Amino acid sequence: MSVVQQPLIESIHEVDSLLETLCADRLFLVIDEPAYRASGAHAILENCFQKYATVVFSHFELNPKLEDVQRGIEVYRNFEPDVVIALGGGTAIDLAKLIGTLSVQKGAEHSKCSRDIAMGVVAIEIEGKPMIAIPTTAGTGSEATHFAVVYVDGEKYSVAHPSLLPDYAIVDPTLTESLPKRITAATGLDALCQAIESIWAVAATEESMGYAQEAARLAFDHLETAVNAPTPEARRAMCRASHLAGKAINITKTTAPHALSYFLTSRYGVPHGMAVATTLRAMLAFNADVTDDDCVDPRGATAVRERIARILNVLGTDGVDEACSAVSRLLSQVECPTLKEILVNGDLMAVVDSANIERLSNNPRRVSREQLIEVLSSEPFQSET
Ligand SMILES: [Zn+2]
Repeated sequence: MSVVQQPLIESIHEVDSLLETLCADRLFLVIDEPAYRASGAHAILENCFQKYATVVFSHFELNPKLEDVQRGIEVYRNFEPDVVIALGGGTAIDLAKLIGTLSVQKGAEHSKCSRDIAMGVVAIEIEGKPMIAIPTTAGTGSEATHFAVVYVDGEKYSVAHPSLLPDYAIVDPTLTESLPKRITAATGLDALCQAIESIWAVAATEESMGYAQEAARLAFDHLETAVNAPTPEARRAMCRASHLAGKAINITKTTAPHALSYFLTSRYGVPHGMAVATTLRAMLAFNADVTDDDCVDPRGATAVRERIARILNVLGTDGVDEACSAVSRLLSQVECPTLKEILVNGDLMAVVDSANIERLSNNPRRVSREQLIEVLSSEPFQSET
């Protein structure tokens, strides 16, 4: 896939001039209301938005649902906007991507159209109106990717199309200053995992690795401070990490830890980034032992091990054991639960059986169901400190 260059703007104060440049008239705002107010964006943008005809779509559940997309499409089509703005975390941005694009497809007035596209039965054909994404969390990197997550009848789908990439990303670290500790931790862990998975992914390229290594280093060095004693510098570093990790997975997509995470989120309510992080250490140790016999990457096991070495370098460690301990320590510092704490009365088999096959096939080392169960069973019960 060719990578479209997307302008990155680092101050929310530039929304005003951007809308003028776009000759905007009618704005469709997909807004996470609590985040809009708490982040300070409301105080800055309120006057600006008053100059335009606007419609606000803000009543939606956490994690995008098809029903919310369909309600949004109806509002969009009645209003006929010329610019779409998303403001909030990954849910608001993914919803805006889907609503903005699905609303302009042929047959969009029928709910079957959006359902078919969400489930991958029908492809996107028409590009939507210009979209501006303004994240208020430092984690998902959704503002930098051409895919969007949507749950259909409780099942998770990922819709991918170049036109889903927002035309503009406004990543302003000051918007993340009021984030509660647990959200900073969960979203920051998502950025770290996306970056590390992107480095070992079968689809990794030199370009994606450039983004991913910088993202992983920034997240690893600054997450603990951003969570426990936030400074503007740590917030800025996490925003950059999140955005770069988004650019990296926009090229590579994610791998085993993401494949295993969705069930932990939907069944046990574990926040996305934490659900992903719980299997990162085990998969790092597993992938580091790749051989030519079980290597999925056509470039061979040596090339994969060379990329794992880059991960160890980013984590400032010499060996795999040391790197796993460093990951454990960080997870414990930001109060991320271990897999066994989550599954205290749960079922590891169900987690393994739920794993998304497409994501697993992007993991550099082939992994069977039995191996996954064995690898994940070896995770310690208590967090190591
Ligand atoms: Zn993620």
